[in-house]
Amino acid sequence: MTEPRPWTIDDAIEAYNVRRWGADAFTINDVGHLCVTPYGSGGPVIDIMDVLEDIDDKGLGFPAVIRFQDVLRSRVEKLNIGFAESIKANSYGGQYFGVFPIKVNQMREVVEEILDAGRPFHHGLEAGSKPELVVALALNDDVEALTICNGYKDEEYMRLALAGRRLGRKVVVVIEKLSELPLLLRMADEMQIEPMIGLRAKLTTKGAGKWEKSSGEFAKFGLSSVEIVQAVHLLRERDLIHTLRLFHFHVGSQLTDIHTIKDAVKEGARIYSKLRQMDVPLQYFDIGGGLGVDYEGTATTNHSSTNYSLDEYTSDVVYSLKQICDAENVPHPDIVTESGRALTAHHSCIVMNVFGSIELGDPRARLPTPTPPAGSIGERMLREMRDIVEHVKAGNAIEAFHDATAKKEEAEDAFRLGVLGLEERATIEHQYWEVTRRLGPLIDKMDHVPEDLEHLTTDAADQYLANFSLFQSALDHWAFDQLFPIMPLHRLDEEPEREATLVDITCDSDGQIDAFVGEDGERSTLRVHALRPDEPYFVGMFLTGAYQDIMGDMHNLFGRTHEVHVFVDDEDPEDYYLETVMPGDSIKDVLSRVQYEPGELLKLVKNAVDQRVKTGDMKPKTGVATFDIVTAAMGAYTYLQPMEPEENRPVERGRIDAMRRAKKSTDN
Ligand code: PLP
Repeated sequence: MTEPRPWTIDDAIEAYNVRRWGADAFTINDVGHLCVTPYGSGGPVIDIMDVLEDIDDKGLGFPAVIRFQDVLRSRVEKLNIGFAESIKANSYGGQYFGVFPIKVNQMREVVEEILDAGRPFHHGLEAGSKPELVVALALNDDVEALTICNGYKDEEYMRLALAGRRLGRKVVVVIEKLSELPLLLRMADEMQIEPMIGLRAKLTTKGAGKWEKSSGEFAKFGLSSVEIVQAVHLLRERDLIHTLRLFHFHVGSQLTDIHTIKDAVKEGARIYSKLRQMDVPLQYFDIGGGLGVDYEGTATTNHSSTNYSLDEYTSDVVYSLKQICDAENVPHPDIVTESGRALTAHHSCIVMNVFGSIELGDPRARLPTPTPPAGSIGERMLREMRDIVEHVKAGNAIEAFHDATAKKEEAEDAFRLGVLGLEERATIEHQYWEVTRRLGPLIDKMDHVPEDLEHLTTDAADQYLANFSLFQSALDHWAFDQLFPIMPLHRLDEEPEREATLVDITCDSDGQIDAFVGEDGERSTLRVHALRPDEPYFVGMFLTGAYQDIMGDMHNLFGRTHEVHVFVDDEDPEDYYLETVMPGDSIKDVLSRVQYEPGELLKLVKNAVDQRVKTGDMKPKTGVATFDIVTAAMGAYTYLQPMEPEENRPVERGRIDAMRRAKKSTDN
């Protein structure tokens, strides 16, 4: 018999599909740790486990968001360079001006980093509301860069935008519905400032999938062709046609198919061309967002994937636009995109510690061997179940599953009727799980999995208890089944011999993840390592930098996690340093956010304690200690904290230290 081939780092890279979703920014090192390579292979390499040690040293604990600021910079550069190269390759006459839609990640560090990395390219900002516009006016001080104002607008929004024009900035007010135009013109007249106007068109080309409602005739935003013509006439009447500078559309986020993008650009280019032929001096052609992220690394039109690369995107946009403009004999406009997801998704991840597991039919469970009397129901059932277990094979998989299920149900009925003992029932249940375990590898090899066996792998998988809230950290997974790559951060030099789903710590059965990225795309379980009693086990969820950071909700009042920002530093032996460390929400922070005044709550607890002391049910000293417990909790982190060492805890703060010490002693 040939020995099975030993597990290698390459096997781990394949098993978790790192290369394909990682967009060159992630790899695994020789000791089996996941690493970040912000500038691709050959550049600095940051071992995530080193960052976790630093988080631990700072006394923060987990879960924590880690932002790799250089990944963000690198994405901004890639997009801008991609367009510059496509423009050159196609001898295109216009330039590229990107804008970052603040709503995708409003965190100041993110917006500032994008502006800084984008400064050489005049990368600007897109605002969809008044608060976002205030941010844009304060931060986007490059007079060449655009500030695009989308979303419905009131007088105050218009006033802010026009104030931006007074500051000498290129602030474009995009008209989303026709009634906004006379309002803008009135405000501009009052403020005596010339506006820069954009028109958003409703295209007939539709994006597919979750965000398809952003386009089409019945979309919420944008002007129909009738309204576009009306807007042009109004501006001409007022002698302000020269202020109409930008043509815009947005067909949806996460466009999975390059054909949709090409079709939208071509349709938009026709409208642009016809407007130019009507002597509208448009300068900018703004194709909105939509550049997708291949979360699952399958390069398909699946909703969490994309069938194109960033280079293909820039090249097809430039080529399609040029083709139509040339055919219509109009000048090539400057190209604007409002990419948010593709810039920010990769730079941030959430790291969580697994603090336990629920293993159905744990094979290690030690059960006494029941010895029911010969000829009894118990003796018969145990014998028959043992027989089923021993004969599971590929040829009879479905039959074995049906037989084992029937036997388990029979045992439950017999127990209910009082003719089967608890130990016999437990043994039969244990053997049922043994059957499902033996079926797992057989199902994996099946070309066609019978319906009854489809959910078996998930049902029989362990549940790993992870210290995080799905609703805070990955809302889109819950709301849209959006897939995020999830994988262990260490022990990747060992074969992961168990399959698990992840459950979070919210009191909600929806707080569970059973869709993961595997070697061939989506799978229902995650390959994990068995937990070791005195060792931490860390899992990371990746590509969470777009939308998730900001949309997280307050389910169970867990609130924001700790956060650290990592910057590359070539001089540092570990290639990085931590710049910002932001503690997550404390209990009093989240309570205040939902209108509980912490002082008032403490007063109520104090009253209850005083009452017990007064009636003699509690000693005054115990009363003080009890109140202190609640007071101290107010300042504590909302997520699970380390247990006392004597309790059998697999992962917690200070444990990394222990691991490091153990590693050092074996290294020496
Ligand atoms: N622009 C507009 C008008 C949007 O509505 C959106 C989001 O849906 C974006 C830009 C950002 O899209 P994405 O994150 O897909 O690039």
